[in-house]
Amino acid sequence: MTLLLVIALLLSPFARTQHSQSTAEQGLVEKGSSKAEVHQALLDLTNPWTVMCVAAHPDDEDGSTLTVLRRKYGIHTVSLFSTYGEGGQNAVGPELYEELGVIRARETIAAAAIQGSEPYFLGMKDFGFSKSDEETFRAWGRIEALRRMVFQLRKLRPDAIITNHDTSRGHGHHQATGQLILEAFDAAADPQRFPEQLNQVKTWQAQRLFVRGARGPNTTATDSQPTASQQVTIDPNEMDPMRGMTYAQQALLGLQQHATQGPWPKSISPTGGRIARYTLVKSAAGAAPLPNDAKTPVDGLQLPEAIRSRFTPPTIDEKPLTGFAGNHTEVLVALMNAKRRGAFTAAKETVALDPERFRLMSSRLDVALAKTTGISTNIRTRDVLAPGGQHKLEVTLDNTGEEEVAVKRWGTSGLTVAEQLDGLKRPDKLLPGTSTFQEIIVTPPKQTPISVPSAEHLYDGRLFGSQLVVEAELEIEGVRFVVSDAKHLEVAPAVEITNNNPSPCVETPATVLSCSSASLTLTNHSAPFAGKLQLTAAPFGHKLESTRPISLGPKAIERVATGPIATLAPNERLNFRERAWNINASLSDNDSKAMVTERRFPALYIPAIAVAGIHVGYVSSFDSTLKNSLSALGVQAKELTPDDVATKDLSGFNTIIIDNRGYEAHPELIASNDKLLKFAEDGGTLIVFYHKTNEFNPDERRKRPQLAPYPILIGDDRVTEENAPITFLQPGHPLMNFPNKITQKDFDNWIQERGLYYPREWDPQYTALFSTQDTGEAPLKGGVLVAKYGKGNYIYTSMVWYRQLRAGVPGGYRFFANMISYGKSGAADK
Ligand SMILES: [Zn+2]
Repeated sequence: MTLLLVIALLLSPFARTQHSQSTAEQGLVEKGSSKAEVHQALLDLTNPWTVMCVAAHPDDEDGSTLTVLRRKYGIHTVSLFSTYGEGGQNAVGPELYEELGVIRARETIAAAAIQGSEPYFLGMKDFGFSKSDEETFRAWGRIEALRRMVFQLRKLRPDAIITNHDTSRGHGHHQATGQLILEAFDAAADPQRFPEQLNQVKTWQAQRLFVRGARGPNTTATDSQPTASQQVTIDPNEMDPMRGMTYAQQALLGLQQHATQGPWPKSISPTGGRIARYTLVKSAAGAAPLPNDAKTPVDGLQLPEAIRSRFTPPTIDEKPLTGFAGNHTEVLVALMNAKRRGAFTAAKETVALDPERFRLMSSRLDVALAKTTGISTNIRTRDVLAPGGQHKLEVTLDNTGEEEVAVKRWGTSGLTVAEQLDGLKRPDKLLPGTSTFQEIIVTPPKQTPISVPSAEHLYDGRLFGSQLVVEAELEIEGVRFVVSDAKHLEVAPAVEITNNNPSPCVETPATVLSCSSASLTLTNHSAPFAGKLQLTAAPFGHKLESTRPISLGPKAIERVATGPIATLAPNERLNFRERAWNINASLSDNDSKAMVTERRFPALYIPAIAVAGIHVGYVSSFDSTLKNSLSALGVQAKELTPDDVATKDLSGFNTIIIDNRGYEAHPELIASNDKLLKFAEDGGTLIVFYHKTNEFNPDERRKRPQLAPYPILIGDDRVTEENAPITFLQPGHPLMNFPNKITQKDFDNWIQERGLYYPREWDPQYTALFSTQDTGEAPLKGGVLVAKYGKGNYIYTSMVWYRQLRAGVPGGYRFFANMISYGKSGAADK
């Protein structure tokens, strides 16, 4: 089967003049490599070392040090993350959990591009904030986490490792990661550990391990205090002359890529970026001592003589090429001479001593040639691929420099059964300032694994889709070098089904069977499609089915509102004991009758009721949880903007909710706070979800008064165990009994945690309803505080109702329904 077929040779859209070629047309191009790119490529030839930064979550990496090591010293840098950070919060959008993990992986890739490093992930589950290494290892499996980390050390072969995490402080994931790297440092070199990996990788002994901070981790290995000579200090505040800003400023640009974890500082403080001090905590037996004046974690390391003699970087008059970056011809000649004398290559048995390092450095020499000559090859596509479908891609070969080059080979690999390394029609040569490009058709094999929705592929290695590589081998004056480009392309079914309802879809007695109305989006990634969409569901034991014809043009996107596929017949009684059910959507092709895709959308019935007739206003922060939950309860609700709060009459609402971190998401609300309090004073119920200390507590500098009607002071305490015991302090309180009677069962099957940023002081006007605590800690009683205020009520709650509402935890809906109903039907006046 021909998977890769050249179908067209087209003119470059930016062509000015054309040079006739035997197989392709060429057009003029203008852009060359930037000075900074050329400089980096030349600098990279001077440094054969790899430094790995180990971090628990995206944004825990030391971006400043990574930037300095690569941009100033040309060190090959990689970062290794234990998790994708999916248990974190999202400051900019509605995504949580696996969807957040996908975004954070992409943010990390963007940050790494600025740092000049490469990110890798162990894919351990981020189950949210954890107070202990012990809880973390229970979730991860200590051996499994170690196995994955050892594999990455053996694969990536760092000479020195740095980490921000010690073994005993902070987030349990940080402690666990700090412990794992201490153990992995030795285990990676030990053929007795994880011997099954040795089919794929060789053992690897890193030379040095550093932990950030003045003192090392609390290892039992040595009691001696590290001396100053065992430290490396990295100051990122030096100006990078190639990029016109300090390394700290570049690192901040990198940090800002982690947008979901913001807000980040807009600029470096006038006193400069933080200086990093790393303490050497482990050295390999026989490793070179760290010099007193070490500037980087690899200073003083020596390659074996056999390798060192092959790794002499090219020079001009014995000076490094970076000093000549402006002198194009001399640099090019020096690079070509390095190629001719076989720099970074050696006899087989020498290469076998350290093949990865030879591969790294010889590819860096090729990159230096590519950047200096301004030649590149690229893949351009915005397509999502469908197995078996035909996809047009564009591959280009650009010569933005001054040399004519011969093109010896041009082809692709990946996404094809047989690699077509010389499968593209190529010109014999590429003239200076010209470009050639071709449209190719890629037909991914039928068995190409699907990679969408990405959130379902966070842990199975398909997160980034399938890779396609284009590679060209070029020759100038008898010297050959390779340029390449790699793209990860998402792979989807020919027609992809997505559901616009929340997942899970929740229905309650007031909205029973509402989830049987699906709102689907069908996206055609392939040729025109004609088929059948079949929906089946079995809510409460009823079997239901509906089928409709579907016809879609290429690339068409169609929204399908299915209407209820299930309705209640008059006097029909349902067996409400069955709580969870699914809508199954499947799409089959008319011609082949084959199933194109099948998806299952979960629905839940939750027995939670709100008082009839109430009218709720809510200010959302980052997601649609409040909107969806109020809709599931069948409550009349209206989203309020901060402007609505400031200007509209609020007296028509019974209840107003400020979503979690609402005063942070909408600082304008602070100015309207008196109006919100007046709403409560006049008889409404004002509910405020959790805030961080620096988002809620009074702060003169930020012109933020006490926001609650009676003082509340928020602290940093969390209850991270989602099954932490709950004690009812006021079992007879109306909030506990009306309209839903709250029992211990309502605290079963919670997600991630109980609550965070618990109030640490509050006015006696408040009644506290629950007490809870993590194992071995003192009870926290401020999770729900409720007070009468004027004719109305005020509720502040730091419990994570939003996570429970979103995940469809029944207790979350039942207590939420009580909060929004509070004060209605005399419940509060008991
Ligand atoms: Zn972290």
